[in-house]
Formats: sequence, C-alpha cells, structure tokens
Amino acid sequence: MEKEKADIRSLEIHELQEKLEEQGEPGFRSKQIWDWIWRKDISSFAEIRNIPKSLIGTLESKFSFGRPTVVDVQKSSDGTIKCGFELSDGEFIEGVLIPTDSRITACISSQVGCSLSCAFCATGLLKRKRNLFSYEIYDQVFLLNRLSREVYGKPLSNIVYMGMGEPLLNYGQVLRSSRMINSKEGMGMSPTRITVSTAGITKMIDQLANDQPKFNLALSLHAANDEKRNKVMEINRTNDLQGLIKALNNFYSKTRNRITFEYIMLKDFNDSDTDAEELVQIARKVPSKVNLIEYNPVAGLPFAKTDPEKAERFRDYLVKNRIPASLRRSRGKDIDAACGQLAGKK
Ligand code: SF4
Repeated sequence: MEKEKADIRSLEIHELQEKLEEQGEPGFRSKQIWDWIWRKDISSFAEIRNIPKSLIGTLESKFSFGRPTVVDVQKSSDGTIKCGFELSDGEFIEGVLIPTDSRITACISSQVGCSLSCAFCATGLLKRKRNLFSYEIYDQVFLLNRLSREVYGKPLSNIVYMGMGEPLLNYGQVLRSSRMINSKEGMGMSPTRITVSTAGITKMIDQLANDQPKFNLALSLHAANDEKRNKVMEINRTNDLQGLIKALNNFYSKTRNRITFEYIMLKDFNDSDTDAEELVQIARKVPSKVNLIEYNPVAGLPFAKTDPEKAERFRDYLVKNRIPASLRRSRGKDIDAACGQLAGKK
C-alpha cells in the first residue's frame, strides 16, 4: 500500500529545508516554497511560479498540500457571516466573521466537533471527530481574512478561538497556528489581537503559563459556583473553580495578561442577584474582566435567554462593584452563527 504523504505544512521550515537538500535542492528553495504555501492564495504546488517544474514534481511526489474549501457562506441580517469549510478528508467545520464599527473579528474552530458536551451548546451535541491541524486552523483565518476584504473592504482585526472545539485539548496545533498567524512568515498579526477561549482545562492553563504565549486567554465561566457549573459544564467536575482560579492567577503572574470571563446569560439559571454577587466574588480573585453574552436558544436544549432588562441590571451590579463588565448582544442568530450555535450542519 502506498504510504500516505504528509502535508507539507506539517513541517517546520528547517525540516522542509533538510528534505529539499536531501533531494539536492539549494537551501533558498525552502524559503521560496514556504512563502507560497503559507502566504499566498494557492491550493496546489502547480501554482508556485518561481521554482523549476522538476521541483514541483518532487513536491507533488513527496508531500500533500491542500486548503480547506469554502463550501458555504451565509450572511446574517446584522452583517455577520458564517462560513462552512470542507477539509481535505471531507470533514466539515465552521468559522464566523463578526463586523462591528471598530473591528472585524473572526471566530474560528480548533476541532471537528467537541468532546466536552456543555449543556447549552450546539457543538457539544456533536461528538469530537478529530483535532484540526495547525494549518487548518490557520487557513480559516487566511480565508476569512480574504472574505473580510471582499465583503467589508478591510482585513480582520481580531481572532477568537471560540468556534467548534476546545482549543486547549488541541494544544500543540493551536499554539503553532497562533505562532504562524503572528509570524512575519505567516500573516503577521499581533498576538494581542488573538484570544483563546477555554472551557477550563486546569493542567493546560498551567502549561500555557509556562509557555507564555502572547495571546489573550478567556475562560468560559457561565456559572460562578461549582454546583451550578457542574450542571452545564461536565468538565468542571474534574476541573473545579478553585483549581481554575489558581491556574488563571499563575497564567496572569507569568504573562501579565488580564483574563476574560465569558458568561452566557441563561434565564433563571445563572442570572439572579445571588449569581451576580457570586460572579463578583470570582472576578475579584483574578485580574479580569467579564463579558456577559446573550444566549441563543438551540433546538432541543432546555435553555432560554435572560430578559434584556435583567441582563442590564446584572451588568450594572458588576460594574457597581468595580468589575469591568460588558453586555454583548448576540450576532448572527438568524444563520445559527451565534455563540454556542455552531453545529457543523452542511
Ligand atoms: S461550549 Fe465550547 S467546549 Fe463546550 S461543548 Fe461547546 S464547543 Fe465544546
């Protein structure tokens, strides 16, 4: 049986150089090829224009190379765009473009499906099929950036790893993708414009603290005590709030990067005065700010959105208690692109 070829972008540049030198190619070719496969909008080796034909043949015989294909683009009445990507093995993921007056944010996926099954989330209804490779994560940003220029006339300003999947359960590939998004050899975007959002894997937050990436870290909190959080986020049973707060403080002490707590407001579940006070107590334990997020009901799940006035009161309570907090209106609801709605439906 023919051995499956590795994707060329799974190699680091020095590895590519070594492979090419084994074939008798001069060292500078790796830089030329690298530039095409990461920075240019091509999807086959044959499109590389400044290398000999024979080398294109060598690349084709040694490596595979493919970009996800955009198979679906849906535009919401509020300008949000949901984009469906088909991966080279036929799997399907989604990414979202969210425009506001001051920024254009891409929300990207890190896994096909998700293993965590949070009770309010459509992605959690799918099982995890596989992790994404770093270049598949990168490609979502690359292709969404192209779409952003086409549709809004400007490039992306921010990236959030908040689509399908738990980024810290695909740690190595997520970190490599963010490095390539930052690097001059990739997209050259500032790491301060990237946020990785986790459901809360204590051990991996400690790992992040050691590795000290420059991106921002958000914790999907959604309930401010263990009893409630266990009910909606299974992962909390093995990664409780006390351990998470310790890990987040560890991350902060090493990176000086303030944590964002994401908190989806679920009617009559986490939106009472007591919940607000408990959230204040949690937020005081680590340098942080709070994003309150309007919930979008998902068919088949037993949650509803908090009334807008109640959500505002909740926000005001946090602010009065000197917790930086904002209330986010949900975007892209009519195309199932809003937070917690990505379900990978083709
Ligand atoms: S909220 Fe995030 S971690 Fe939880 S099931 Fe959905 S995608 Fe997975």
